[in-house]
Amino acid sequence: MKCTVCKGPAVIDLARHNAHFCTDHFLRFCRDQVVKAVDEFAMIAPGERVLVAVSGGKDSLALWDLLLELGHEADGLYLGLGIGEYSDESGRYARAFAAARGVRLVEIDLPADHGFDVPTAARATRRVPCSACGLSKRHLFDQAAREGGYDVVATGHNLDDEAAVLFGNVLRWDEAYLARQLPVLAARDGFPRKVKPLVRLSEREMAAYCVVRRIDYQVEECPMAVGNKHLGYKEALNEVELRSPGSKHAFYFGFLARAAERFADAALADGGVLGACERCGAPTTNDVCAFCRLSEKASAHEPVPVPRPRTRR
Ligand code: SF4
Ligand code: ZN
Ligand code: ZN
Repeated sequence: MKCTVCKGPAVIDLARHNAHFCTDHFLRFCRDQVVKAVDEFAMIAPGERVLVAVSGGKDSLALWDLLLELGHEADGLYLGLGIGEYSDESGRYARAFAAARGVRLVEIDLPADHGFDVPTAARATRRVPCSACGLSKRHLFDQAAREGGYDVVATGHNLDDEAAVLFGNVLRWDEAYLARQLPVLAARDGFPRKVKPLVRLSEREMAAYCVVRRIDYQVEECPMAVGNKHLGYKEALNEVELRSPGSKHAFYFGFLARAAERFADAALADGGVLGACERCGAPTTNDVCAFCRLSEKASAHEPVPVPRPRTRR
């Protein structure tokens, strides 16, 4: 197998691009895809400060590495979720990456700083774990960006993630979610801009990127993800992609080009008048924000044991 560009030995084949790449041209391909996404969707302007949400997994570490390589001023933010061994290990990968490159990693720990963990928050509020976790992440990322004076929060959602979420939202025709399923959410009323610079790259490409760049990352899946519908949607789309390479890209980018705008009204209707949370000052449409309500219930609940980590299939 030869590199499509230089005819040297290829290390990866990308069926959806009908191309094979050597190490150098694969790295160039990944950087080009990020530059393209950043430019096409006006994600990051020159000189803006970026806060990268780092989980210790391949996507967020690859994203941080790519943004640094491309010359962006990018610090990391690691959020300890209190999911037992899984969280301990994910924190080690995030810290090791930051230490090896001499870059800044901001850390927030849910149990130490807010008195609860994700399994307990889920039980106390009768939410599924990923919902309690997502709410906490959004709140704390926004807060850290505001307090640290960052212009943008970048997350490591890749093409597989976005196509799977889109698939789920389309299955339910969930208009409010479809309206927000964009690679960029503009800053508004105290919320920083949110961007997803990996939308043009797949999960497999990000794993390969980490191998080539010698980035150690957490392979175990979060033990709270059991039963998460998102994983089933990913498997279904992988089957489609295998038979018809390029389907995920066509599905997601076709939505952005030809359908997303039709749901914009659902996003506006979803709005409401924003005031400041009377406990933490975060923007909210209620007197007390959703995170402070969750935090109050979770810290009063007795701690819930954490399942053991699962190895990724
Ligand atoms: Fe949080 Fe769910 Fe992801 Fe685990 S799988 S880190 S609970 S969102
Ligand atoms: Zn090459
Ligand atoms: Zn609050």
